[in-house]
Amino acid sequence: MIIPEYEAKMLLRGYGLNIPQGVVAHEPGQAFQAAAGLGGPVVVKALIPAGGRGKAGGVRLCPTPEDARQAAAALLGQPLLGHTVEKVLVEQAFPIQREMYAGVVTNTASAGIDLVVSLNGGVEIEQLAHQDGSAILHMEVEPGAQIPAYRLRAWLAPAAPAGLDVDALAHTLVSLHQAAADLDAMLLEINPLAVTPHGLAVLDCKLEVDDNGLMRQPELAPLYAASLSERERRARALGVSYVPLDGDIAVITSGAGLGMATLDLLKRRGLSAANFLDTGGGISEGMLKSALELIMEPPGVRGAIINLYGGINRMLEAAKGIVAALEHIPGGRPVVVKIIGNQQEEAWAMLEQTGGVHVIRGVQTEAAVEKLAELVG
Ligand code: GDP
Ligand code: MN
Repeated sequence: MIIPEYEAKMLLRGYGLNIPQGVVAHEPGQAFQAAAGLGGPVVVKALIPAGGRGKAGGVRLCPTPEDARQAAAALLGQPLLGHTVEKVLVEQAFPIQREMYAGVVTNTASAGIDLVVSLNGGVEIEQLAHQDGSAILHMEVEPGAQIPAYRLRAWLAPAAPAGLDVDALAHTLVSLHQAAADLDAMLLEINPLAVTPHGLAVLDCKLEVDDNGLMRQPELAPLYAASLSERERRARALGVSYVPLDGDIAVITSGAGLGMATLDLLKRRGLSAANFLDTGGGISEGMLKSALELIMEPPGVRGAIINLYGGINRMLEAAKGIVAALEHIPGGRPVVVKIIGNQQEEAWAMLEQTGGVHVIRGVQTEAAVEKLAELVG
């Protein structure tokens, strides 16, 4: 899950990081009020889940509250980088003396959380890496370790330009590393980390946390819930995983591996998935009914494939769920079912008597995909 900038900055404040005061505004009048309250110049930033806002005109320096009002009026409700701007962040503007980059990234090879730093920011970090790899400092940190500030000072000193407060930078990096570790971050990027008259400041941040760690991050639960679509929320209540995609074939499988294989086989046959729902274990009539209703909902879905490797799950229950769902689902769209497992014969017999359902009696997913391809044309 990507934590939105404003909320991420709130979390980082808890680590003593220096972050300008900011207020979220939903309309130009609120931006005016916020700027007046903060006093002095502000930046008005479009709050959208995308980077590169500065270049696209989504970050505006506003000397007066009236400028903030106008900037908010220009941004709110407008499209920017594929999103509609629904809110802006009105934040104290700190004069920038030097832009730097600090990243905390998981190292999948070592299982540690590494530091990546560039003392010369103001450029895209990817571009800089391309042009001059030596401008980027990379420190591998042992898994589970905290980095002592002295080690960072020694690491930074040879690269630091005259006048840079290496001690402050080292302490900032310690805090960022700690925050990333505590929050189960997969990525924490500060760009720019700026030298300002108010000290070293976090002016922008990108924080992505590992959803698999959410059970030990109770304070992130409301943010996670808010990040889900209505369908994802219902899937969660059902105890299944649901992934929306952009094709037009709805997919249910019992297991993520079987799911990915099914998506690949659909692709190979020129079809593409509208979504993918993984039942996991514990298949029941009610679960399958709700699951099938859910995956058929998105507009444009032309048909469905249900690919269950049931094992000891009772597949007759699954079949009953499919039949029950199809009583409600607007008809005409084919549903191809490939079910293997306990009670498979009973399940096949029931489904073969159900209109719109096509049963594949076999283990080959290819056969089910082929059947569906013929039916949807
Ligand atoms: P991004 O383009 O989406 O990454 O958005 P940023 O928040 O990084 O803002 C883009 C640029 O706006 C930054 O690289 C800075 O140059 C500038 N900027 C952001 N905040 C401030 C600020 O408080 N003061 C000043 N002077 N410039 C800022
Ligand atoms: Mn940025």
